[in-house]
Amino acid sequence: MTRIKILPESVKNKIAAGEVVEGPFSVVKELIENSIDAEATEIDIEVFESGLKKILVKDNGKGIYKDDLALAVQNHATSKIENIPDIEKIASYGFRGEALAGISSISKFTMFSRSIEESLGAKIIHNDGHSEITDYAGDPGTTTIVENLFYNIPARKKFLKAKSTELRKIREVFLKTAMVNPDIDFSLNVDGKRSITLVKAAGLEERVGQIYGKSVPDSLYFDRLKDLKTEICGFLSKPDFLKSSRSMQILFVNNRPVEYKYLGFLLSKAYEAIAPRGSYPAAVIFIDIDPALIDVNIHPAKKEIKFFDQNYINSLILHLADKALGKAHNLNLSRMSAGRITDKIKTQNIKTDPSGPAHVYEEQLEFKDRINNINRSGFSENNSDKSNMFNSTISDYPFSSFIREAGKLYDEFDKQYDFKFLGIIFNTYIVIEKDNVLSFIDFHAAHERYIYDTMNNETKPETQALIFPQVMELPVEDYQIFLEKKDYFVDTSFDIDIFSDNAIVVRGIPGIVKDLNIEGFISDIIEAFKREGDHVRDVKKIIAEKAACHSAKRSGDSLSPEEAKIIASRALNGEYDKRCPHGRPYIYQLEKKDLEKVFKRI
Ligand code: ADP
Ligand code: MG
Repeated sequence: MTRIKILPESVKNKIAAGEVVEGPFSVVKELIENSIDAEATEIDIEVFESGLKKILVKDNGKGIYKDDLALAVQNHATSKIENIPDIEKIASYGFRGEALAGISSISKFTMFSRSIEESLGAKIIHNDGHSEITDYAGDPGTTTIVENLFYNIPARKKFLKAKSTELRKIREVFLKTAMVNPDIDFSLNVDGKRSITLVKAAGLEERVGQIYGKSVPDSLYFDRLKDLKTEICGFLSKPDFLKSSRSMQILFVNNRPVEYKYLGFLLSKAYEAIAPRGSYPAAVIFIDIDPALIDVNIHPAKKEIKFFDQNYINSLILHLADKALGKAHNLNLSRMSAGRITDKIKTQNIKTDPSGPAHVYEEQLEFKDRINNINRSGFSENNSDKSNMFNSTISDYPFSSFIREAGKLYDEFDKQYDFKFLGIIFNTYIVIEKDNVLSFIDFHAAHERYIYDTMNNETKPETQALIFPQVMELPVEDYQIFLEKKDYFVDTSFDIDIFSDNAIVVRGIPGIVKDLNIEGFISDIIEAFKREGDHVRDVKKIIAEKAACHSAKRSGDSLSPEEAKIIASRALNGEYDKRCPHGRPYIYQLEKKDLEKVFKRI
């Protein structure tokens, strides 16, 4: 029999560290929060190799007393609370006193600090369970260095995602924390290079602009609501600023970014009449609530919180969104005289959506939804659409109109092709007659497939210079993602470069996508990179897919018979897959004998 024994402190800390430190981003989070708790006004962060090699956080906060430094790395050592009632009115980020103990048990840990009240500070190096303390005579404030994270728990290291994903998580923590602390100067250096700088801002609005792009606050409403217990305020999308994902929906509770699973649902509810299916409002919402009404203590990393009255919180969020949108209704009411308000808002939004014309946009979303459905349940709702397409009875097709059209266009038939081009119907389908078969070709999808395949070809497509290079300012996060993937754009014949801080310039695009909606393409592709995260598919393929989607002729576009014939001949020649890159078929064929059956000729 093995005897029961109490675990040594070092083992306990290692176990606790496993809970607090999910990855390098958790270390960054804990250290930044400590700096903010210490009332720092300047916080500089450096990470090397996505934080696995080294993380350094330097602040100008109030520092640690020389004689307390050794305590900082001990478990349950905190200066922030003294007893249980204190927890109930906790206003600081930290209070459990476990973070540094945990982190220092799984890394080489160095901290030097000087309290503003003392002339001499101290430096501690903690490695393999041993601490060494010396004097430190630098400026007041604290610098914490975490090296070789997880060196003694290789299993955890294995669970980490690709380095770029870990770095993305670090940026996310950095930006979220910076968002809610606009009065602090922040900088983030990555592998020795300056990556993001956020100077002290006048307030939340300016900080939102620094992070998402200077013009973004103009696209958001700001509103607030207050009652006895709680205050809620936030920035919410105006009707013409909708995103293709929920990545810009953030909730802060008492200055802590939290994951609240109903947030997305509540926002979609509030924007029901405004946001077309699959588009999402941006929302940065801050709730200030009596700490006694929430429990942040349910998770060591404090990522989740529990509201004691969830219905109350839900109604606050809904009310805030309604109040903000009330402005939208008023605005539109005064400008428009007839028609349903929601319809107006909808069309307005569709026209100005940054990701390009609405139907493409919807189509992408539909695709995304389909993928989501498959992922979620292994079942795709849209299968039913597909089978409808093939099963609908022949009498469903309004032949008379296209036969009329066909007669008109027959004369224009160009002998060069081995098919009869009968015309374009419903502004969407090319109709071709060949060998007793009618082919209906969804020209957007067919064109998309052609562009996609050509871009994926071994030989690089030719670059076509733009007469007017296009400059785009990107949100900080998007800009960083662009930097990571920049070379892939060059590989696919884009002439694209850094313009200035957070801005890029597009000077040339592949000739094959000459009608590319550049802005829509860039923002959509960055969203795709964000979504894909560590499920890295072939980056070139994603670029080809998005370029095809944003440049292919769309239903409703005017298409000359010549263009239609080119698309049709490519679609019929068997060289290209008969589905668009999203998997939708683009040819439907009807044989002469099917028609004859309808007319009882056979
Ligand atoms: P907690 O933040 O939950 O109190 P930590 O383990 O993160 O626990 O930190 C332990 C203690 O070390 C803090 O309570 C604080 O007194 C001190 N400390 C840590 N980082 C700093 C810092 N950057 N500036 C001043 N004091 C700090
Ligand atoms: Mg802490």
